Amino acid sequence: MVQAVMDLALQMGILHGRLVEAKQGKDSLQSSLEANTLTILDMVSKSSFAPKSDNKSYAEVMKAKKISIPLRSDNTVVMYPIDNNSNITPAEIEKEVRQAVNPVTTKIKIENMRTIGNKGLLVRTAQKDNLTSLLDCQKLKDSGIKVSVPNKKMPRLAVYNVPQDLDDDQFISALGGQNDLEEDFLKKNMKCAFKFGRKDRASVHRVIEVSPELRKKLLSKERVYIFWTSCHVEDYLHISRCYTCHGFNHVSKTCKATTQVCGHCAEVGHDFNSCTKRELKACCANCKKYNLPHEHDVRDKTCPTYLNALTGIRNRTDFGI
Ligand SMILES: [Zn+2]
Ligand SMILES: [Zn+2]
Ligand SMILES: [Zn+2]
Repeated sequence: MVQAVMDLALQMGILHGRLVEAKQGKDSLQSSLEANTLTILDMVSKSSFAPKSDNKSYAEVMKAKKISIPLRSDNTVVMYPIDNNSNITPAEIEKEVRQAVNPVTTKIKIENMRTIGNKGLLVRTAQKDNLTSLLDCQKLKDSGIKVSVPNKKMPRLAVYNVPQDLDDDQFISALGGQNDLEEDFLKKNMKCAFKFGRKDRASVHRVIEVSPELRKKLLSKERVYIFWTSCHVEDYLHISRCYTCHGFNHVSKTCKATTQVCGHCAEVGHDFNSCTKRELKACCANCKKYNLPHEHDVRDKTCPTYLNALTGIRNRTDFGI
């Protein structure tokens, strides 16, 4: 029931959300692309940031494309060696799981198993109650494997066009002093993550990690006052995109694919620039892989696989709902 309410609340967030590429973030967006990473500026809150005509809500986009992405609940566990110094690999953890848990007798429905870094294994199941068979598995504990529910990430907010020359302390002082927020409260509830934008400009965009409580306060303001300017605040969601296989949540450097996948026709063995099918319609490599409608660009913001990855990020973030 609680999960259903959370799903509904998140879904409402998505329906009210506006998928807008922030104009002022475009330069940095370009450099992020070059750095093998796609930065998605995705608004959960309403905003007057971009001209109305450019705004398209998820609902409008989905209606237009006749696609609907159900929000999946986040039924995942992570598995790591109990001993930090252990040499056990994710592949060995997976082998242990396969031996320790009988999927037929436990009626477990596995949706996905993937490695996390070079130490852990993530297992996603179709139903929340499936997780008990993994969390309580004595055989895994006996094999030196710790199974736990992953911690949710702190939400991230982007604060746009902050004066470039401010250090973190000056920024936090201004955020507190000029916006009716106690500095102590701020220090306990936020962390400066990183900046993005051009270094030769007078202003830069800052990404901060905040508690759900501070997120609510800042989003309700929409703009915050920092020294002699006011800065727009919005949710910041980030999806890594691989330029070898075009999959999400990893980059080329850590990609398991050995052959380049084309960003236009989705065939293997060549890249976008040397594609001979550029006259033909684009084919999305990700959606093709999952047997979804795939006659769209792999970078299409309405791509079902992309929206699903975005949903995954939302589910892994603690919005305090
Ligand atoms: Zn890849
Ligand atoms: Zn091609
Ligand atoms: Zn797609």
